Amino acid sequence: MPRKEEIAHRLQALKTELGTTQLIAVTKYSPLEEALMVYESGQFDLGENKVNDLKNRANIFLEKKLDQIRWHFIGHLQTNKVKELLKIPRLFAIHSVDSIRLLEELIKNKSHLVGTELKIFLQVNTSHEDEKSGFETKEELERAVEILVNNLSPFKFTGLMTMGTMRTEKFEEEAKRCFSELYDLKKYLEKKYKLNDLKLSMGMSQDYKIALLHGADYVRIGSTIFR
Ligand SMILES: *Cc1c(COP(=O)(O)O)cnc(C)c1O
Repeated sequence: MPRKEEIAHRLQALKTELGTTQLIAVTKYSPLEEALMVYESGQFDLGENKVNDLKNRANIFLEKKLDQIRWHFIGHLQTNKVKELLKIPRLFAIHSVDSIRLLEELIKNKSHLVGTELKIFLQVNTSHEDEKSGFETKEELERAVEILVNNLSPFKFTGLMTMGTMRTEKFEEEAKRCFSELYDLKKYLEKKYKLNDLKLSMGMSQDYKIALLHGADYVRIGSTIFR
């Protein structure tokens, strides 16, 4: 099967399986041509984890007038890259706001945003692995929510993001624990801050089926599409 058909076929199968859960096709390990194939097959939500790569690709998509693209930034964001990220055309969401310091830097630089709105997910470190980023305590997360709801425009507090534990023998059990913890946090924040309809961004190739069972609204999938 030609590569483009293969990718379109996998996307179709995934979308059927996901139902109303939104797919973010993670193109970070894929060449530009394959990111273009994804878009051409009608999948407009793409995820990248490096500011430079995202910037290069977003500019190419812009030149080609591929205007329906929605870019999702999913990687660890350094404060010195914030301005550059906000200037990227068609940036739709940041899934990985993982500290108060980063949140404050975003707010400080909000005038650089190209679009009129940017969706913000706060990343929670539910696995507590050292190399993972994210808010570690409920208190810290609540402080971030309070800062965010008081500084909304052009940002939109959209929901919470997490990653399941990677290095574990019991990865299914761990994924269930991480995802249900995120679900409970969402319910708690909705109630406490009278927010409705916060979204959950959770699940990757390895564990998206488990994430679906725990209420994922967005899954971020790379290798299952591009393997
Ligand atoms: C790379 C990455 C993904 C996708 O991972 P796959 O295993 O390739 O599906 C999802 N989320 C984040 C934050 C990532 O860095």
